[in-house]
Amino acid sequence: MKKYAGIGAVLLIISGFFELSACRNKQKDYSIKDMVYQDLDTTVKPGDDFFSYANGGWIKKNPIPAAYASWGIGNLVQDDIRDRLKKINEDALKANAEKGSNTQKIGDYYYTGMDTASIEKQGISPLKPELDKIEQVKDIPSLLTEFAHLSTIGVATPIGTYVGQDPKNSSKNMLQLGQSGIGLPNRDYYFNTDEHSVTIRTDYRQKHLPIVYKLSGLDDAAAKTATAKTYSLEEFLAKNSRKLEDLRDPYRNYNKMPVAGLSKLAPDIDWKSLFSQMGYKNVDTVVVGQPEYYQAVNTTLKTYSIADWKAYLRKNLIDAYSEPLSKSFEQENFRFYRTVLDGVKEQLPRWKRIIDGENGLMGEVLGQLFVKEYFPEKTKQRYVDMVEAMRTSFKEHIDKLDWMSPATKQKAYEKLAKVMPKVGYPDHWKDFSSLSISRQPYALNVMNAVNFWYRYNADKLGKPVDRTEWDITPQTYNAYYNPSNNEIVLPAAQFMIPGMKDEDIDDAVVYGYAAASTIGHEMTHGFDDEGRQYDAAGNLKGWWTPEDSVKFSQRAKMLADQFSSYQMYGLHINGKATLGENIADLGGIVIGLDAFKKTDQYKEGKTINGLTPIQRFFLGYSLGWLTSVRKEAESSQILTNEHSPAKLRVNGPFTDVPEFYDAFHIKKGDKMWLDPEKRVKIW
Ligand SMILES: [Zn+2]
Repeated sequence: MKKYAGIGAVLLIISGFFELSACRNKQKDYSIKDMVYQDLDTTVKPGDDFFSYANGGWIKKNPIPAAYASWGIGNLVQDDIRDRLKKINEDALKANAEKGSNTQKIGDYYYTGMDTASIEKQGISPLKPELDKIEQVKDIPSLLTEFAHLSTIGVATPIGTYVGQDPKNSSKNMLQLGQSGIGLPNRDYYFNTDEHSVTIRTDYRQKHLPIVYKLSGLDDAAAKTATAKTYSLEEFLAKNSRKLEDLRDPYRNYNKMPVAGLSKLAPDIDWKSLFSQMGYKNVDTVVVGQPEYYQAVNTTLKTYSIADWKAYLRKNLIDAYSEPLSKSFEQENFRFYRTVLDGVKEQLPRWKRIIDGENGLMGEVLGQLFVKEYFPEKTKQRYVDMVEAMRTSFKEHIDKLDWMSPATKQKAYEKLAKVMPKVGYPDHWKDFSSLSISRQPYALNVMNAVNFWYRYNADKLGKPVDRTEWDITPQTYNAYYNPSNNEIVLPAAQFMIPGMKDEDIDDAVVYGYAAASTIGHEMTHGFDDEGRQYDAAGNLKGWWTPEDSVKFSQRAKMLADQFSSYQMYGLHINGKATLGENIADLGGIVIGLDAFKKTDQYKEGKTINGLTPIQRFFLGYSLGWLTSVRKEAESSQILTNEHSPAKLRVNGPFTDVPEFYDAFHIKKGDKMWLDPEKRVKIW
């Protein structure tokens, strides 16, 4: 992925689409509208801190608004799309649309979300049937039945499942199990001793859990007991979960076994029955990511009482559905998950939050309307062509590698040739006809939509893999590489620069912004420490000679060490966990740069606003990371995310690129100077 950790929580999917209405501007006069020139902070020497030189002007003029954890180019995109979606929602409300139509669903979702009077009156009652079900649990079999049910409505349990392509046979869908079930974002929060982790863990234990239990109807004493048991249970699961960097090895996290094998790991669970209750049909073989975790789950079934489990599930239910409930629930959820974790000072206006949720749950419905208007064929063609220019440049880079043998090169060419690009928007849109949305309590509409996605995924089992599918919407400011399909998926929104028309942006900026930071980045993921282990057909299967593997790993280790040496807010960057992203950034830059060198703009060499084409390329790349982030959010990212902080995604890889030194006259003694023998070159 380019920016975010995963697509996980549907409600949190961040989307965007734009063209800022405030600065729409047609002229080609770059002296008037030149995003890279006007953002410069010329009080900073490029060789000391390029990120701040490139983006500091904008960052100084645009402090982070109170309702945001970070503020930058992605937010501008996101804000603009909300305005457009608002209009669509308001029109849908007025439309009196046919029941079952997408317009009716959009209108009713928005109506119930905005109807705060009813939401306040309902209080916790929309969840009452679910709380009752939890209360009825009396033994292990009924507990497992409840795990199964709660999974179908998106409530966390210790059993984490999804249907996805078998990593070793990409044409087959398989049921996969992974570590799950903790309330903090990452296992490290339960054990780390840095200030950020300790603050969060303390708040979770002393405030968040007791507040949630009291809101759910428990008295003080019961809330205290429930908190202690739940924290202890989660801490045990966390202790038996793998660290972020240990999830990167695809072989170690691939343990294919018959259901009988799973029963050996966790004999107190009737897996056949559990899977059938979860809606997974005819399961005989599964892929278990972390077997030791499921042994630990089995232990918890014996060491925690039914009462403990009921308390744990009660909290997970409330945490999953606090946002669509009444104010007291929603406020506590915001306080802990946004303020304490990310440093956000105030909530977004309600309509924006409702639209974000809707966009996460029904994004493709809205996306169809957008691309028609804002991603015309001509724009699409520019980026389709750019993908091919990048493929050619990548091939030439492989040609020139002095460390790779001809045998491995041959396989690399094959894989590169088969990288499938998806540009702009899907050819087929998903069918939402089985999703029911009405003027029932808002939380139940959200629950229906979450359940729709659960069934959508579960139904894939036993069906052929659909390689045309998109996992994100066209209005999402993000992109991804999927190793099982050997594909790069590049949504329309990712190519846009706020306030600029595509045809008005010069190639230098576009090659930095789109070709290097997005297309080249995603392409290189197929050849990073993890992606390189998958072959052209998307199967986890070695194609490297052992010598070339060793040579790759030596180069990768240099990059991991480089990033591990960086610190922010007293936290070390995790060079191993961020390795794949950092390889992708560096690859994207050097491959994008050579692709750019073939354009007329580069060859003509004319300056714009005093900036040479190659300088504009590096500034265009930096524009993709135009963002400032609150200390809390940046700290959370360093602990939980495989992406380095934005600043280091610019300053880190640039120090490895010789052309960067030439373009900005960087000399020994400048802070970003790296001795030539320390500069990493992989692709
Ligand atoms: Zn990435």
